[in-house]
Amino acid sequence: MQAARSPLDILRHTFGYEQFRPPQQEVIETLMQAQDALVLMPTGGGKSLCFQIPAMAKPGAGVVVSPLIALMEDQVNALRQAGVAAAALNSSVSAEDIRATEEALRQGQLDLLYIAPERLLQERTLRLLQQCSINLFAIDEAHCVSQWGHDFRPEYLQLKLLHERFPTIPRIALTATADPKTRVEIIERLALQRARIFSRSFDRPNIRYHIHSGSQGARQALLRFIRDRHDGEAGIVYCLSRKRVEEIAAWLQDEHLDALPYHAGLGAEERRRHQQRFQRDEGVIIVATIAFGMGIDKPNVRFVAHLNLPKSIEAYYQETGRAGRDGLPAEAWMHYGLQDVVQLRQMIQQSEADQQRKQMEGHKLDAMLALCETITCRRQTLLDYFGETLAIPCGNCDNCLTPPATWDATIAAQKALSTVYRTGQRFGVQYLVDVLLARDDPRIQQWGHHRLAVFGLGKDLSANAWRALFRHLLLRGLVEVDSEGHGGLRLSPLSRAVLRGEETLTLRQHENSPSRKKEKNQE
Ligand code: ADP
Ligand code: ZN
Repeated sequence: MQAARSPLDILRHTFGYEQFRPPQQEVIETLMQAQDALVLMPTGGGKSLCFQIPAMAKPGAGVVVSPLIALMEDQVNALRQAGVAAAALNSSVSAEDIRATEEALRQGQLDLLYIAPERLLQERTLRLLQQCSINLFAIDEAHCVSQWGHDFRPEYLQLKLLHERFPTIPRIALTATADPKTRVEIIERLALQRARIFSRSFDRPNIRYHIHSGSQGARQALLRFIRDRHDGEAGIVYCLSRKRVEEIAAWLQDEHLDALPYHAGLGAEERRRHQQRFQRDEGVIIVATIAFGMGIDKPNVRFVAHLNLPKSIEAYYQETGRAGRDGLPAEAWMHYGLQDVVQLRQMIQQSEADQQRKQMEGHKLDAMLALCETITCRRQTLLDYFGETLAIPCGNCDNCLTPPATWDATIAAQKALSTVYRTGQRFGVQYLVDVLLARDDPRIQQWGHHRLAVFGLGKDLSANAWRALFRHLLLRGLVEVDSEGHGGLRLSPLSRAVLRGEETLTLRQHENSPSRKKEKNQE
């Protein structure tokens, strides 16, 4: 075991950062003094160091409870690369590695042990921990104790037991969820009544948000945005694939901009060179996959642009959060296409993840889309997602600055809801659209739905517009997906007000929205 080192020494020499970010230092001191802590901080804010550093500074090992095996492995790999004695115990670790890790723990050779909650809770593991020197328990993603959230994990409820079995070992719970209800639940369910609470607002008031969609013109729009608003300034352009990164970087270079590609497919040397130029020189634009950003702490990034839809609001927040760390005005700009939505949904469906994880990722994508489609203040929507309330519209996002064109979708929504109802509340979006457009389909004949009054009632809108509308109805809870999971839609308690005309529905105009089309015809 190494001689005791100070937290600042570890920050500088193991992690290579100069200074703590607020409130890292206070959190670390709290744990060093064996007091409990609850940390509510945005994704990307730097929560991990809050428990990693005290676990390394104190004798013994820190035990980290983490709900997702993939996240656990990322962290352990990153720590090992930095020379930290870290290991993981979860269902994907071989029996041999488990034995080795347990032995290292007994010998006092580990600094950090990451562990899945179900394994931690096994009597055998608890007994092992009681025989070893443990310096803290960190409960990551602590909002998983909340039964109301999408991420609820029943095993998290039993973590209260740590307090009973290890009353003298300090605990730290961390989450990127700020809403007061969840906070109260975390305190109660984890018995953290005596914890010091550290919470930081998620708002980044100096970042101006812009989001647009469209199937074409993304490149030109990006070029105009950079030339008009960020000439000679540093920025990051995020793309989904390596191929696209290469294309966009080459194209920006052709346009005489100082752009460099960055993705995991480049050689280590080239990656380091590009990252260094971005970090040191003025006005370099990095075109990157999301692999870029880890360990970047350049204060004067003036813009972050997305040429694809991020997969969640957390990801969007973290990526855009790399802009304007110096507090000066900065911009987050995004252009996405309907194709992105299709692609991300496929990626979720085709991934190896279990059903629960897929469902969670589906919800996160829906929330991201809701942020894109909102006609009210982006910042209010964004903060609301993290459980924070911004009382008045921010005045510093596209929707506040230029209220978006909208159309009255009430009648279309009534047609859509009637179609759900008349067909028996069990068909998916595709079938419903086919009925609305009077498509010639044997299934429709078979069910006799060609005789319904709604058959062909939707010919005034395109299939895409109908699909977008159904997506909206789902996002707003105006229809629900059946619990059997076949993707069938049914009415919800909220549908009635729209069907009766007591409530109107106003949507953002897209290229395929009805009124936009009419305008074009009149031109
Ligand atoms: P969170 O868990 O809150 O989402 P992380 O712990 O993953 O955030 O940290 C996000 C990024 O910020 C990481 O790349 C991390 O290395 C970096 N970081 C954390 N603390 C500091 C610091 N004091 N100075 C510079 N970079 C930091
Ligand atoms: Zn706003």
